[in-house]
Amino acid sequence: MVTATAARERAWDAAAAVTDPELPMLTLADLGILRRVEIEDDGTAAVWITPTYSGCPALAEMRADVDRAVRAAGFDRVRVRTELSPPWTTDWITPRGRRKLAEHGVSPPGPAPRREPGPVPLTLLPTRTVPRCPRCGAQDTEELSRFGATSCKSLHRCRSCLEPFEHVKEI
Ligand SMILES: [Zn+2]
Repeated sequence: MVTATAARERAWDAAAAVTDPELPMLTLADLGILRRVEIEDDGTAAVWITPTYSGCPALAEMRADVDRAVRAAGFDRVRVRTELSPPWTTDWITPRGRRKLAEHGVSPPGPAPRREPGPVPLTLLPTRTVPRCPRCGAQDTEELSRFGATSCKSLHRCRSCLEPFEHVKEI
């Protein structure tokens, strides 16, 4: 007999393994955006996620991916819900997630800026973090562009090894 706990774990594992559309080397578990999973009385798997960057166009894609993954794990009814409070911060990216970013040549975010109390800002506030080169570890890097391939990343170049690299912005 499948217990409710086992079913919940199965749904959790399926959702946790979904990768992020913008940072495909990271799973939802690595990003720390999977909040909770519950199996409702009618067997519906309800999954709560906290979206990453505000207004991120990848959210719809992510929801569809979670829905598909949980269905593939044997659930006929899936409901993906978003939880906006507390808002997601790059501080929730797990140590494993940070390691994977660096392994893929992407500089992981530094500590997130302190939030002012009040409504969640809809824009990405500039930060003063100077990221380290993920390839050679040099600290002498320059920002080439505030926006990399996606809005969650900025583009930098290492003055030591001269390689460009992306950095996940702190929010
Ligand atoms: Zn370098």
